[in-house]
Amino acid sequence: MTEGKCHICGNHGPLTKEHVPPKKAFNECPMLNFGVDPTATKAAGELRFGMKSRTQGHYRPTLCRECNNRTGAKYGQEYVQFAKCVAECRIPPGDFGAVSFDGRPAAVAKQALACLCSTSGPGFSEQNPLVRKLILSRDYRCKPPDVSLYFYKRVLPGGHHTGVAGGLDLQSGSTRVITETSQWPIGWVLSWSDNPIPRLTNVTHWLEMEYKQTGARGLTVHCLWTCTGLPLDYRTPDEVIRDAAVSAERH
Ligand SMILES: [Zn+2]
Repeated sequence: MTEGKCHICGNHGPLTKEHVPPKKAFNECPMLNFGVDPTATKAAGELRFGMKSRTQGHYRPTLCRECNNRTGAKYGQEYVQFAKCVAECRIPPGDFGAVSFDGRPAAVAKQALACLCSTSGPGFSEQNPLVRKLILSRDYRCKPPDVSLYFYKRVLPGGHHTGVAGGLDLQSGSTRVITETSQWPIGWVLSWSDNPIPRLTNVTHWLEMEYKQTGARGLTVHCLWTCTGLPLDYRTPDEVIRDAAVSAERH
């Protein structure tokens, strides 16, 4: 079993496989993972990429058993129900529609934070103690200063995870620090800014809701492309091809 630092509580020890997002939230299909190969990178002394096949969805050895069980048991079921609501809402690519959810929004938001911790490295929760506390305590609720949580519906199957990165909003030209993780049908973005991100649904207030409170009606949700896997890049395939052609002309 892999040993290391748990991405939520920060304790060092054996790490269990954490499905990101929960397995039943459309994360149990075979898939190919493309990303930095840490072993090859270390051996070569420069960035090397590699491909790994997964037979049961996307998972990582990121959480200690206690944190894995804690998040799975408390928040996982609610998250699965929310993912089904988003999946069943028919929104044409690039368009928007309305999603309603009868379950517990606070549980969904806490699971989303757990997913973002898993994909953002072991130092993430340490540097964001209120995010850690929101996950570890079911009844704790707050809005961490200058932190906003958003989601969107993915057009494309599969998923992507940016880790903590600088994101450029291509529509407004503004930059911000974010971390993003997605797996069809949902993408999550945590932004260290209260400036709204165009087209993303702001659900930061879910972090302040009582755990037992139910219902989120009529959420406006955009169905966005994630062709490049870059943070906050929701250009359509035509826009990506057009921009690539313009860039090639300049060089
Ligand atoms: Zn832990």
